[in-house]
Amino acid sequence: VRGLDYLRDPRLNKGMAFTLEERQRLGIHGLLPPRFKTQEEQVELCKRNLNRYQEDLNKYVYLAGLQDRNERLFYRLLSENVEEMMPIVYTPTVGLACQKFGVIYRRPRGLFITINDRGHVYDILRNWPESDVRAIVVTDGERILGLGDLGAYGMGIPVGKLALYTALGGIKPHQCLPVVLDVGTNNQTLLDDPVYIGLRQKRATGEMYDAFIDEFMEAVVSRYGQNTLIQFEDFANHNAFRFLAKYREKFCTFNDDIQGTASVAVAGILASLRITNIPLSKNKFLFQGAGEASIGIANLIVAAMEEEGLSQEEARSHIWLVDSKGLIVKNRTEGGVAGHKIPYAKDHPPVKSLEDAVNTVKPTCLIGAAAIGGVFTPSLLKSMASFNEKPIIFALSNPTSKAECTAEDAYINTDGRCVFASGSPFDPVTYKGQTFYSGQGNNSYIFPGVALGVICSGLHHISDNIFLMAAQKLASLVTEDDLRIGRVYPSLKTIQNVSLKIAAYITEHAYAKRLASTYPEPVNKEAFIRSQLYDTHYLHALQQTYKWPNLER
Ligand code: NAP
Ligand code: MN
Repeated sequence: VRGLDYLRDPRLNKGMAFTLEERQRLGIHGLLPPRFKTQEEQVELCKRNLNRYQEDLNKYVYLAGLQDRNERLFYRLLSENVEEMMPIVYTPTVGLACQKFGVIYRRPRGLFITINDRGHVYDILRNWPESDVRAIVVTDGERILGLGDLGAYGMGIPVGKLALYTALGGIKPHQCLPVVLDVGTNNQTLLDDPVYIGLRQKRATGEMYDAFIDEFMEAVVSRYGQNTLIQFEDFANHNAFRFLAKYREKFCTFNDDIQGTASVAVAGILASLRITNIPLSKNKFLFQGAGEASIGIANLIVAAMEEEGLSQEEARSHIWLVDSKGLIVKNRTEGGVAGHKIPYAKDHPPVKSLEDAVNTVKPTCLIGAAAIGGVFTPSLLKSMASFNEKPIIFALSNPTSKAECTAEDAYINTDGRCVFASGSPFDPVTYKGQTFYSGQGNNSYIFPGVALGVICSGLHHISDNIFLMAAQKLASLVTEDDLRIGRVYPSLKTIQNVSLKIAAYITEHAYAKRLASTYPEPVNKEAFIRSQLYDTHYLHALQQTYKWPNLER
């Protein structure tokens, strides 16, 4: 590397933190102002800069620029200020960034592989400059958050998720690869948008699409090995379930929208039960939505109930779902019931509206994940409070505009008695003298830790049991103080520790069950994982020297 590369390469750049000796030896002296800064001072300056922006999207652009300029500084800022930064690099602002991706696009980040590149996917992977990729987040952009088909604009999601792999899971940035599989888009607005950056054609489907995804999976293995973790993200429901079933035994893969969501929601439910004092198998669940999130959560609740001794059938009888056609019952006149919904279809007369479903089923726990903003109306919330002492209300849809209700709505309409969590963050709510700091049922409590555990132990496949374990570990980290202020998740300030504990738990399990492939087996699993973590502090730019003993001449 030439001296100047130390300023241009975001992985090497330290800005004014280069010491006088480094500047002189690297040949960059004079290219920087004659001022020496600590990384801490730089972090403070970044915060000042961020605060100058009124609009969240501008904050997002600023942080993306910082990531392009000085990677360690970006991650230090992010990891030490998770509560403030996460809503910018991730939901809700990342949703806006995806919608405006063509306008804010500055520099490439991640790989764009298109359906036109069939037969050459491996060659494109070869173009990625890193050889030690351990984790890939991939999307085809068809169901970005609750925003629908954003085509290649969906790149913001893998980029954001992987930033959290590093900031929250300590996975090294050069080991992370964001990918968009661009198969076109059915979003007419984008097809007509002059700044759209993706293929200007309708989505490829059917055999051609499937063969393309197959080729991608195999190319990843050829390029980076079979232990490469492949996280599926924001695929539409009709593909997500299929691919999970198709690939889970063959590749090291999971679907965060199904399994990560399930894990974080079940963790929140387990913690909520410490407030309501009702054992899991005595609860009744009603879901608004029967897609990736809802079915994933339902399946994991069933697994947890089975651990409590219920049969699968009994467990399923505790779970009711509402989809776009109403309550999921066996003999509906409209819509029918297919696929993953079948196990949950009840012998019950049809019920059309969510409100009627709530009043018929009388659930202890109401979970929204249909991306229909505001459907948890005041009267519906009041109903929940009428037949439950402490109703559990989870409004999981993202971004904020899609949330089923706000935290404020939830507390006001349940007389402050509900246990509330949401997918996107809400400010604290004060009601009748009590301040509630409701938790964010955010997948980022789960996927960075799971990924870290999988990568460190060298697990080949990721079973549902891993996600149940992660949920149980996460729930166990919720303190009594958290619960007292209405929060069924640990403070975001502790999220790196959450990741570490989940990873250690998974790693212990992986070795105990002989599923780990990292050798030699580390004696202390947590210490081993700790030793693998990315360090956001600057490294020495110069080779360190050492002396030989007794060297006379
Ligand atoms: P999905 O697979 O597309 O499922 C959406 C579901 O909503 C479908 O079952 C659909 O019904 C149903 N639906 C649509 N309109 C409806 C209506 N008017 N009434 C009742 N149900 C309706 O999407 P997903 O992956 O489950 O995601 C859904 C939402 O959850 C998104 O906003 C996403 O951001 C959010 N989410 C949040 C988290 C989190 O906070 N941790 C995690 C994952 C997802 P049909 O089956 O009849 O089409
Ligand atoms: Mn997602």
